[in-house]
Amino acid sequence: MAESRHATASLMVAGNWKMNTTVDEGVALARAVCVAVAAKERVDVAILPPFTHLWAIRSVLEGTGVRLGAQDVYWKDSGAFTGEISPAMLAGWCDLTLVGHSERRHIFGERNHEVGKKFVASLAHGLQVILAVGETSDERDDGRTFDVVNRQLDAVFAELEIPPAMDAWVIAYEPVWAIGTGRTATPEQAQEVVAHIKQHVRARFLDGSPRVLYGGSVTAANAASLFGEADIDGALVGGVSLRAEEFGVIVAAAETAACARDLD
Ligand code: PEP
Repeated sequence: MAESRHATASLMVAGNWKMNTTVDEGVALARAVCVAVAAKERVDVAILPPFTHLWAIRSVLEGTGVRLGAQDVYWKDSGAFTGEISPAMLAGWCDLTLVGHSERRHIFGERNHEVGKKFVASLAHGLQVILAVGETSDERDDGRTFDVVNRQLDAVFAELEIPPAMDAWVIAYEPVWAIGTGRTATPEQAQEVVAHIKQHVRARFLDGSPRVLYGGSVTAANAASLFGEADIDGALVGGVSLRAEEFGVIVAAAETAACARDLD
């Protein structure tokens, strides 16, 4: 049976819009997402629009249950860091942040310990944080997947002074070779690494592990089979999160999986 912190199972589906949409398009998309995911009570749904859209979209989401997240954050509260956004600026009205996305790591050169600082700063401001980890295709071919995710996780844990509450963070396992490529990990491949991540986290924090999502070319067609795996607690969705109806189908698949897990 899937490991769950919840009395009844629930899954999470988060949509990472990346650098897409104008503000007006984003507001319209947020409205469409709210319609598409309405009445899915067993799924924790979040959208992560670009920074410029967050304030406007906040009021669209009010009362819908859909939560609002930022795609990145800097670790300082304020200062001479041109172009950066701090968790202090988001605290109190934004729900979560994403840190360590592979595009931040591979295009912008973010290192593991910097991801850790972003993680800690988000938590310190009461923001839930999604920590993305995952291996490249070469690393997988060399049999180093577990080592890579262990290193990414341990670098974050090294920044922690106190263990965070388990519901304050979420891990997204996102193999780099599957992001935006249309090459999804098989449910078995995803399950294997997600289960490993849970085990690794449990060895460090004895009282359990946070939710672990899968991300990498999740679509309406493959979501149900991924959610059928015992340890996959939901999805971080990129490209398809820009299409409200299809995103809604993924959320519906998560709702069905959550109900099925109660029966196990
Ligand atoms: C992502 O950006 O986190 C992602 C998983 O993208 P895609 O779904 O497009 O592969």
